[in-house]
Amino acid sequence: MAATPAPGVPTIPLNNGVEIPQLGFGVYQIPPDRTAEATRTALEIGYRHIDTAQMYGNEAGVGQAVRESGIDRGEVFVTSKLNNNKLERDDILRSFDRSLEELGFDYLDLFLIHWPLPAVSDYVARWKALEEIYASGRAKAIGVSNFNPHHLRNLFAASETRPAVNQVEIHPFLAQDDLRAFDADHEIVTEAWSPIGQGQVLGDPAIVQLAEQLGKTPAQVTLRWHVQRGDVIFPKSSSKDRMAENFAIFDFELDQQQMSAITALDRGGRIGPDPDDFNWIPR
Ligand code: NAD
Repeated sequence: MAATPAPGVPTIPLNNGVEIPQLGFGVYQIPPDRTAEATRTALEIGYRHIDTAQMYGNEAGVGQAVRESGIDRGEVFVTSKLNNNKLERDDILRSFDRSLEELGFDYLDLFLIHWPLPAVSDYVARWKALEEIYASGRAKAIGVSNFNPHHLRNLFAASETRPAVNQVEIHPFLAQDDLRAFDADHEIVTEAWSPIGQGQVLGDPAIVQLAEQLGKTPAQVTLRWHVQRGDVIFPKSSSKDRMAENFAIFDFELDQQQMSAITALDRGGRIGPDPDDFNWIPR
C-alpha cells in the first residue's frame, strides 16, 4: 500500500517534545483475527495513530498492519497499555518486551498504566517500572490511564517523570472538566476514551439538531467538540465508512454557543467503572 499523508490531522506536543496526532483509531473489542484488517483500513484512510492495549489481545494485528503498510514506522504513533495483572517490576518489564514482540516493533510511541487499581496495587511502584522502560528508550513516552488527581499527586511526590498523558473516559455525558484542568495545569495531555460514549450520545436531541444544522453526522459533531477542547481521541469502528466519517472532522468548526450546548449535556454519566472503585485483575 502506498503511504498516504495524514490530511490535516493536527499533532499535539507531549511534555517531552514527542508529537502525538490528535485523532487516532482505537481497537478495543476488535477481535484479534480482525484487527490487522481493521488497522489496515484505518491506515488507508489516513489514520496515523493507533490505540491498543495488552488487555485487548490484539497487539499482533496492529503490528502486522503497520509493518505491512509500507508506511514508515516513524509516521505511525502506536500506544499500548500495561495489563492489570502485571503488578511487579520484573513482570512489567517482561510484559513490555512481549508487547514489542507481538507488535514486531523495536519501540512503542507511548506506554500507559491501564488502571490505577488503588486497592490492590502499588501504582507508584508500577510507574517506576515504566520509568525504567522510558529510560531504555524503547517507549518514546509513558503515561497513565484512568488516573484521578489524587492518584497523579502520589506519582508526582514519588517519581521523576511526569506522565505525558492521562487517558480517561470523556464524552458529552461525562465532560470531566475538573480532571482536564488538573491535567493541563501539570502539562499532561488528556486523551478521551469512548469519545462518542460507545454510540450512546449520538441520539441525543441536542447533538442530532446540531448535526442537522451543520450538515454533519452526530459522530462528527461530537468528535469535533473533543478536538476543539484540545483532547486526543481515537474512536473505534470496524466499518470502513464510519472510520472515514470519523476522520472527516477537520473541515468545519463549532462556534462557542455550539460548543457550550454540547458541554451542557454533562451529567456525570459514566459508561465504564469509576477508577477509585475499580480493582479488577484478569487471571
Ligand atoms: P467509542 O466512543 O469510540 O464508540 C465505539 C462504538 O461506536 C462502536 O460500537 C462503533 O461501532 C460505534 N461507532 C463508531 N463510529 C460511529 C459512527 N460514525 N456512527 C455511529 N456509530 C459509530 O468507544 P470505545 O471503543 O469504548 O472507545 C474508543 C477507544 O478508546 C477504544 O477503542 C480504546 O482504544 C480506548 N479505550 C480505552 C479505555 C481505557 O480504559 N483506557 C477504555 C475504553 C476505551
